[in-house]
Amino acid sequence: MRFSSKRIIKFITVAVSIVLSFSLLSTVNAASSTVSMGVMLEDGVVFPIVEETALGKIVTTPCNTEIVYNSGELLETVDVVIDPGHGGPETGSVGANGLVERDLNLIVALLVEKELASMGYTVLLTRRTDLHMPIRQRTAIANALSPKAFVSIHHNGGAQRRSDVPGTEVFHHVENLESKRLAGLLFEEIFEAFKNYWVPWVNTVHNGASSRLSEPGRDAYGILRNTPAIPSAIAEALYLSNPPEAELMMLPEVQENEAKAITRAIHRFITTSDPGSGFKPSFIDGVMTGTGSARGCVDSKHEQDLKVTVAYDNDEFASLTSAAQKAGMSIEEFQMFGVHALDLFLKLDSGDNSLEQEEISAPSITGSNVSSVEWTAESQVALARVGAKYGFNSSEVQKMGATLMVFLTSLE
Ligand SMILES: [Zn+2]
Repeated sequence: MRFSSKRIIKFITVAVSIVLSFSLLSTVNAASSTVSMGVMLEDGVVFPIVEETALGKIVTTPCNTEIVYNSGELLETVDVVIDPGHGGPETGSVGANGLVERDLNLIVALLVEKELASMGYTVLLTRRTDLHMPIRQRTAIANALSPKAFVSIHHNGGAQRRSDVPGTEVFHHVENLESKRLAGLLFEEIFEAFKNYWVPWVNTVHNGASSRLSEPGRDAYGILRNTPAIPSAIAEALYLSNPPEAELMMLPEVQENEAKAITRAIHRFITTSDPGSGFKPSFIDGVMTGTGSARGCVDSKHEQDLKVTVAYDNDEFASLTSAAQKAGMSIEEFQMFGVHALDLFLKLDSGDNSLEQEEISAPSITGSNVSSVEWTAESQVALARVGAKYGFNSSEVQKMGATLMVFLTSLE
């Protein structure tokens, strides 16, 4: 195939040089979609949908990596999304008795799910197991489902100051008034549930419902910052780091009381216009713990590889072989690399409609030299996006990638 426009060649050259600066076949995480497209569910693992393509649904994995995914069951919406904070290597706070926040959050979340379900609400948990999951993935799940309420369950660490009452803290979005009302109701119910226990509590000045900001107007918590259109709140029922409070949280009836309190708050939020209470002014706290990134997150294999076969005529195959050799790649890597370059080119081009007018016809995929490439679910995203852009099938996209690479190699 030929590229008729010099501008396209220039753009692709820029794109390829950027791709070359990444490691081979590394992918760029696209911004999460703002359209609610639902999620795919498989064995309790949630895959929010980013985009539909002819090759399949592009979703993100628990580690927030895009893959092409054709398994699972579609869930389009739910009433409530519950997020058990932390997971995997991120323990959160740890009690002197060995109770780990990561596990306690999940125990309480599962109880809240049971309570809400018994009242007829549909509920989804961002995780149902001890799964490492970055904040961005938790909020992608909420955004994909647009629930009536999104509550992240935590148990605090750090406070030392003695208090006669539990140090319950609930955080809300700085500007979303419904988020604020949800937080006020959560504070009211959780505080009420704990205050009758006789425990040497600890607290801080943030006891109540407020917004923690990294700078004026900007929520410090990604859970809130990434979900501006959803009533969201983070509940820190008490201080797990305080040994007597950790002891209290070991008791099943206490876990259940907390879950019932959270459930009542959510139910009141959805069915009444109660304002909640315990509000405190927002405050700026630039010092954050910095957990919740995707660093070190390792996904299980969630989808099979896809084998894409293409044929080349003798001339094409000779050029392909020598160009790949010149680039120090196998012909399989070379074809893949070309498709990733095209995908990146499309990303760079996404704001410029003039280039989209260029007519590019599908390459012929027949010939007597056959080459097959195994595409992982992650690398299929490039195949799917380029195919969707040009209306090409996967074999045609693969050949287009090869043709691009042969052309670029000839420029040197
Ligand atoms: Zn936490």
